[in-house]
Amino acid sequence: MDLGLTGRVAVVTGAAHGIGAAAARGLAEAGAWVVLTDVLDAEGTALTDELLKAGSQATYLHLDVADEQQWRGVVEAAVERFGRLDILVNNAGIGTTPDVESDTLAGWNRLISINQTGVWLGMKAVIPSMRAAGGGSIVNISSIFGAVGGFGASIAYHASKGAVRLMTKSAAIRYAMEGIRVNSVHPGFIDTPMISETKGTDVEEAILADTPMGRLGRPDEVGAVIVFLVSDAASYMTGSEVYVDGGWTAR
Ligand code: NAD
Repeated sequence: MDLGLTGRVAVVTGAAHGIGAAAARGLAEAGAWVVLTDVLDAEGTALTDELLKAGSQATYLHLDVADEQQWRGVVEAAVERFGRLDILVNNAGIGTTPDVESDTLAGWNRLISINQTGVWLGMKAVIPSMRAAGGGSIVNISSIFGAVGGFGASIAYHASKGAVRLMTKSAAIRYAMEGIRVNSVHPGFIDTPMISETKGTDVEEAILADTPMGRLGRPDEVGAVIVFLVSDAASYMTGSEVYVDGGWTAR
């Protein structure tokens, strides 16, 4: 099946490792020209070199998603390099565990600036270029924790991921008639550095016990869904929330 991604230009945030890296790889394999961005420049550049060696079109740019000025620079550089911009994967994110009483204002503000404000800034930065290209597709990475209360902790994380879910729907409605689709992806527990601290602990045991498929997800299993959603195969999907969680939210 032709996904219609050949020559489409995609910006992926948080692409140095984990789910963002898997999305960048999947998009490159599907023929897209990929602008990988992250704050981890060495890792992001190494992955970009790997994609270039495999014959893909790719470039790496430093981007802290909480910085509006840097977003402007990335969009300008992407359009200058590849001539257009069609796809944004708003993936960069951090996780913290404090609950309502134990979180600090500084901790809250830092997480919200990356996971929530960063997603808004990304959409705001790319939409004019997508409009100029005649349309586009945005995937915002939320979480199962954007829909349910999880373990009763991680208050800022839940706030940010719930916001991503509804910013996605608001933007989907706003831009539906301009050919710009906006969907959210909600991973369950995926085997990336974000959850490495749970390895071998009671928390991991609880996660696996609550996951009907009985295992963690792999980054490429989320990457494949992102590639599908940004492709023409999902041309009638906008405002959708897609769960990639081994059945966790089905319970
Ligand atoms: P990860 O830690 O492997 O990757 C996150 C990436 O984001 C890293 O490369 C990191 O450098 C980058 N990043 C962090 N702060 C940034 C900033 N300010 N600007 C730009 N980049 C920044 O984690 P992951 O598991 O691949 O997470 C990717 C996304 O998936 C996140 O939004 C996360 O919340 C979400 N998610 C992950 C899981 C999971 O179980 N791993 C579950 C649900 C949702």
